[in-house]
Amino acid sequence: SMAPQDMAPGVWDKVKNHPCYSEEAHHHYARMHVAVAPACNIQCNYCNRKYDCANESRPGVVSERLTPEQAARKTLAVASAIPQMTVLGIAGPGDPLANPEKTFKTFELIAREAPDIKLCLSTNGLALPDYVDRIKDLNVDHVTITINMVDPDVGARIYPWIYYRHKRHTGREAAQILHERQMQGLEMLTERGILCKVNSVMIPGINDQHLVEVNKAVKSRGAFLHNIMPLISAPEHGTVFGLAGQRGPTAQELKALQDRCEGQMNMMRHCRQCRADAVGLLGEDRSSEFTTEKVMEME
Ligand code: SF4
Ligand code: SF4
Repeated sequence: SMAPQDMAPGVWDKVKNHPCYSEEAHHHYARMHVAVAPACNIQCNYCNRKYDCANESRPGVVSERLTPEQAARKTLAVASAIPQMTVLGIAGPGDPLANPEKTFKTFELIAREAPDIKLCLSTNGLALPDYVDRIKDLNVDHVTITINMVDPDVGARIYPWIYYRHKRHTGREAAQILHERQMQGLEMLTERGILCKVNSVMIPGINDQHLVEVNKAVKSRGAFLHNIMPLISAPEHGTVFGLAGQRGPTAQELKALQDRCEGQMNMMRHCRQCRADAVGLLGEDRSSEFTTEKVMEME
């Protein structure tokens, strides 16, 4: 968990009221996600496309898809029903930056109507360098990038393909492009003073040892927090693309890896891998109280 003495000067002020970062704040402030971003521009082997993006959300969950207008309306309705709602995130169900019109339209509508709500987004990073200026202009509070490797040989076992500049790339070449774009995007964000968190999915036998290298690489490029999440295998939800039979790490394996990385930078240990349409305090899910149908009835 985070404390002021663990953070770089200035960072604590920015995150102390943020439910996702401050152990203290997550009891008092709420966040919500709106699921406006259905498409994705890469394929992760651990993703089952029927469900939410596993980078930020719990796999096996189908979130309600919204238009930007519905998402903005829902955000305003939730903000008036839950005054502690301070943060609006876009985290899927695909990649927010593979759906830039929907993502940025949603942010623009909310920034206009409710400028006090902090905005955040999470992304696989492939399209990130193209949108950093737009992210800065919209005053987005912080960005989460999911980075699972810094070595394209490891990446080739995680990502079968990416779709980049109108072309599909596969294998090591795909992972090399993704890696370069992720590092460039991270550097561009931190140069502009935008807080950047890195998520990594720990996949035993594939990137578990390698995440120590990832930790060093993202720290040296200015990420303020590194959140290592366990792969959650969900056989009851069908075969996960390309990683059939892959197990997730045990709690001991996860903790051992987090301990190896700790001291190198702030680690986050209370992530709940919330769904793409989560509403409420962290660890609490009130999304069923705020379906589009119910929100429209509130007005
Ligand atoms: Fe799935 Fe990966 Fe795309 Fe997320 S980034 S939707 S996990 S393929
Ligand atoms: Fe933002 Fe991630 Fe927190 Fe959602 S879980 S509000 S995307 S930091």
